[in-house]
Amino acid sequence: MRDVSSDVEGSGGARGAAARHDLGQPCDYYADDVGFRGKLDCVTRTDTAAWMVDWKTGNVREDPFELECGSLLLKVNRPQLEDIKGEYFWLKTGSAGLRYTLNDHARYYEKLVNLRREAETYLQSGEWLKKKSPLCGWCDVVKCEHNTKLKRLAKEGKL
Ligand code: SF4
Repeated sequence: MRDVSSDVEGSGGARGAAARHDLGQPCDYYADDVGFRGKLDCVTRTDTAAWMVDWKTGNVREDPFELECGSLLLKVNRPQLEDIKGEYFWLKTGSAGLRYTLNDHARYYEKLVNLRREAETYLQSGEWLKKKSPLCGWCDVVKCEHNTKLKRLAKEGKL
């Protein structure tokens, strides 16, 4: 096991944290057997408590999933943390979002495992379910009926 504690968090700058398939096993960000990796925008912490902020440039859309993933990475890399809180900061409105308590790490891990299983099913079948989401505007699969990337680029005068 390699210690990546110096790479776990950033303040102002994003750094990486990663976990092996097994919850509780930190690893190098680029390890071959990495199970999950992510970058945390801003973390302020004591030895046992942490507060995360995730800067958001898009429209306000409260869904704690990304914060849950960030807290899982923090917990894996700093198991002594007992209390993690986090929130998004919405740059368009200049306001902080809801503050979440993010300590249910086993549940967050299970969510990720289920997502991975779902992706493996699609990989095996060769058919990927199309799920319309706000990220369709940044997706490279422009032939998908849900894709809005070209529309977005045209609106931004980038075509
Ligand atoms: S545009 Fe991309 S992200 Fe959106 S549903 Fe289609 S394939 Fe999925």
